[in-house]
Amino acid sequence: MSIISDSLKRIKPSPTIAVTQKARELRAAGNDVIGLGAGEPDFDTPNNIKNAAIKAIKKGDTKYTAVDGTPALKKAVVRKFKRENNLNYSTDQITVGTGGKQVLYNTFMATLNKGDEVIIPAPFWVSYPDMVLLAGGKPKIVKCTEQEGFKLTAKKLKKAISKKTKWVILNSPSNPTGAGYTKKEIQNLAKVLVRNKKVYILSDDIYEHVKYDNFNFFTIAQISKLKERTLTMNGVSKSYAMTGWRIGYAAGPKDIIKAIGKIQSQSTSNPSSISQAAAVEALNGNQSFIKKRSNAFKERRDFVVKSLNSIKGISCLQPNGAFYVFPSCKGLLNKKTKLKTDTDFVKKLLEKKNVAVVQGSAFGLDGYFRISYATSMKNLKKAMDRIKSFCESLK
Ligand code: PLP
Repeated sequence: MSIISDSLKRIKPSPTIAVTQKARELRAAGNDVIGLGAGEPDFDTPNNIKNAAIKAIKKGDTKYTAVDGTPALKKAVVRKFKRENNLNYSTDQITVGTGGKQVLYNTFMATLNKGDEVIIPAPFWVSYPDMVLLAGGKPKIVKCTEQEGFKLTAKKLKKAISKKTKWVILNSPSNPTGAGYTKKEIQNLAKVLVRNKKVYILSDDIYEHVKYDNFNFFTIAQISKLKERTLTMNGVSKSYAMTGWRIGYAAGPKDIIKAIGKIQSQSTSNPSSISQAAAVEALNGNQSFIKKRSNAFKERRDFVVKSLNSIKGISCLQPNGAFYVFPSCKGLLNKKTKLKTDTDFVKKLLEKKNVAVVQGSAFGLDGYFRISYATSMKNLKKAMDRIKSFCESLK
């Protein structure tokens, strides 16, 4: 009999973390590897935020806090939702966790019974299905094609809803495609969801502030009658280059918020007191970092999309947010190149050219790969040259 639990056997380690780890190992062994797998901004956390953390340490804010967030951080989150999304919440509708990841995990643990279904549009963030499986639920994957801009349509959503549907996850701008839903697209989905009164909506807005070309960000609770059934998740990781600080939060129905806190009280307790103090400054302080950083990302996105589209066999949609592109490599999967799948493509690219990217199948859509352009222009230029020469060598 195995010591490992059945629930753990249902899941796999995160493939994106695996790629990053592989690139790290190859680099340590002396290879000149360019890692385009990591999902984190390469910018440093702004100084005002670091200073708030130092101040908290010096002041002695180094003890346990309220399990689901300090009053100061919850107030800052309430203000953020009002200021940026025109959403009104009270502090008892807010929970703070150790990253958005923990908030999502706790949400599924707190709400899913065996067999409950969660609609997950693909391409999806790699952790959604496994978190659902771990909590005993059933991921219902709905594939969204390149022609659909990798976005869920009302028609597909309607078809996917069953008596067992508990949640539908929306993630805009998306990891891994960078696709952002327009107001109209969200309203079309909302029309379906208003009619299906038992379905809850989990809106993962973690990339809200990484957007380009005047893309207007909307979150479903803000523009529909669904606020009472929506949990809106967000965090400071991507917006303020704070991935290592581990602070995420959510707003929504009081019963769900309370249940999430109950799980946290018996598992990790509060997120780091120092990180919470830093997050207060991130949300309340000067916001100019966001614009500056988005401009730098835009330059990189434009370069990467243009470079990829100049390679025969590769095609790439222009995303309006996040720091990923999701190009197709279908044009290179054939007998002549001896590559059958996106995994073959990604493996060979790493082997031959030392460029680490992640296969599309890890995100639920075959024939694609994900590039994170959250790295320097110098690295990106080198990487694009290598990808081009790799693809040309296949013919
Ligand atoms: N949601 C999406 C779509 C993500 O890409 C990530 C991180 O990669 C998260 C949530 C969780 O971020 P964190 O736990 O750092 O807040």
